[in-house]
Amino acid sequence: MTATLAFLGAAGEVTGSCYLVDTGTVKFLVDCGMFQGGGDALRKNRRFAFNPKEIAFVLLTHAHLDHSGLIPRLAAQGFSGPVYALQATIELLGVMLPDSAHLQEKDAEREDSAPLYTVEQAKASLALLRDVEYGAALEPCKGVRCVFRDAGHILGSAILEVFVGGKKVVFSGDLGQPGRPIVADPARIEEADVLLVESTYGDRDHKTLVQTLDELAFALTDTLASKRGNVVIPSFAVGRTQELLYFIAELQKQGRVPAADLYVDSPMAAAATRITLRHAKLPAMERVRFTESLEESMRINSIRSGAIILSASGMCEGGRIRHHLRYNVSRAECAIVFVGFQAAGTLGRKIVEGAKSVRIFRETYPVRAKIFTVNGLSAHADQSALLGWLGGFKRAPAQTWVVHGEPLSAHALREEIGKRLHWKAAVPAERAVTTL
Ligand SMILES: [Zn+2]
Repeated sequence: MTATLAFLGAAGEVTGSCYLVDTGTVKFLVDCGMFQGGGDALRKNRRFAFNPKEIAFVLLTHAHLDHSGLIPRLAAQGFSGPVYALQATIELLGVMLPDSAHLQEKDAEREDSAPLYTVEQAKASLALLRDVEYGAALEPCKGVRCVFRDAGHILGSAILEVFVGGKKVVFSGDLGQPGRPIVADPARIEEADVLLVESTYGDRDHKTLVQTLDELAFALTDTLASKRGNVVIPSFAVGRTQELLYFIAELQKQGRVPAADLYVDSPMAAAATRITLRHAKLPAMERVRFTESLEESMRINSIRSGAIILSASGMCEGGRIRHHLRYNVSRAECAIVFVGFQAAGTLGRKIVEGAKSVRIFRETYPVRAKIFTVNGLSAHADQSALLGWLGGFKRAPAQTWVVHGEPLSAHALREEIGKRLHWKAAVPAERAVTTL
């Protein structure tokens, strides 16, 4: 019997990564991600397109919730096989899945519904995680072999080479932008019969790192040099915060940014930084403080000037960042520096788009702080980098599927693949099935 591959998520969108491989005798998943954002994400998260009890094992590309977030639900519904991932991914999931469950429980309470999964179920699912190493051959069952390669996206991220039914299937996972600190460049892959490639930024290029660091240096110096205000940076806890710590230290070492007290005020960011330090190098920073307790966090509120405050969530939708905005957003001496994508409808997006006032904790605050947006720090490869990675293949795969991108990005990359590499590529429909 021939093996099949079903596209159960990240087809024409960026979330819900999940692929089901059926060898005829064994079924397994590559990623088990959560659908995020509006639309029918909620409905799709509640109903698996397969019976969890029939899944033998899961291969996990990385810790981001849109790739891993439904593992606790899978386990709660009867899946009991191993979930293979890099050690760093396992450590990150140890904090991310219980945190995600906590948010599910809070949402469910507010909406008077059942949570997708509970903290207890999330913790129980962690016992299924098994660590693998980059480059090591893994044989999760007879007839299936796979190798994890470094995807350079976040700590522990992987490209998967899966050998099944005489074919080689390559899952790009999320690919990183080359030349970034903390993570390696994405590993070069030379062959595949079937290739799935992500396309988050399939339609555009990022600003260069040089331009991006110039922007960051300007945003920080402008406020810190005046010695009158603080800089508040809403930042994603995993990946982005550690990258910022790295870049700020470098800019200070080069004398391009004044020395300042730097507060990382997010328990998740602190945990992710500790995990990062176990697996990668960060430059030494003398005036960095990780605040864990609420009391420590509240003490930052009385600082009037000279502080850089990094806090989550990155889009200002929850977490401690809202307190820091409350104390700084109405002061003209302060600056708010956005370093990541702000989705429509979020508090971050409103501020970026120039709102004159914002609502925080049921009160209205005028926006008087300077607002900066530093683009170009994405953890995803841009169009040129994606094409560069694809250029490493020695010949065209028999099948190339463009996944993990909004329709515009996915189709833009599909067209470029046709024009530049002369390969035939397609964007799969959700639930589409292909024969390997
Ligand atoms: Zn990711």
